[in-house]
Amino acid sequence: MLYIVGIGPGGVDTMTEEAASVLNSCSLIVGYTLYVDLIKESFKNKEFYSTPMKGEKERCIYAVEQAEKGVNTAIISGGDSGIYGMASLVYELCENRDTQIRVIPGMTAAVSGASLLGAPIAHDFAVISLSDLLTPFELIEKRLRLAAQADMVIVLYNPSSQRRADYLQRACRIIKNARDINTVCGYAHNIGREGEKAVVTDLDRLMDTQVDMFTTVFIGNSATRNIKGKMVTPRGYV
Ligand code: SAH
Repeated sequence: MLYIVGIGPGGVDTMTEEAASVLNSCSLIVGYTLYVDLIKESFKNKEFYSTPMKGEKERCIYAVEQAEKGVNTAIISGGDSGIYGMASLVYELCENRDTQIRVIPGMTAAVSGASLLGAPIAHDFAVISLSDLLTPFELIEKRLRLAAQADMVIVLYNPSSQRRADYLQRACRIIKNARDINTVCGYAHNIGREGEKAVVTDLDRLMDTQVDMFTTVFIGNSATRNIKGKMVTPRGYV
């Protein structure tokens, strides 16, 4: 069996019991170096196979081949494996194969980050990745524009990298055309990991904030409020 396991935002503490028990049942665990390092200590008797970023396809093919040989194998992703993770790639790679696949869900950064900030995604929200590695930036811009116009709370994944240092700023500029500059915003850094940090701010200040790739950014809708330092999107009860 080939399991595709979302390990949550941090290490074993933020993993579901199902994910932990599946990993315990496997003899081989395959993943991006950072995620393997997060859980390695808790699964001592396992064989690990990790490759750095951009080694995704090679890593998945290796896992598929091992699973087909009868090795109980898990491919791990941070957060949830179906959200900017490995699940879809594995299904595509196995389109013409007989590999048995099971996806085990994990807590995605939008959910874990939201809990640190307060309750920012209590109403309709859109999740958009700013990474243009696999998606043309024009399409990202279109999604940002339309989500902003639709007054959705927007959660930004992959908000920045060394090569894309100004992408958050570019995204904020697009969103600002449809949103008040004082819109309540927030970001969560290193959720569930060492150095965890959550900051509530506004669109104006967010525009001049430098974040890194271990950060998830939240842009409120027109009703989102700062309540005692927390980012809260009302559902309309009060
Ligand atoms: N599958 C992952 C997302 C992978 S894309 C999930 O479901 O969470 C990578 C992006 O996810 C990062 O750039 C960041 O925006 C977000 N992210 C993932 N883990 C995070 C964490 N522990 N803290 C903050 N952001 C995180």
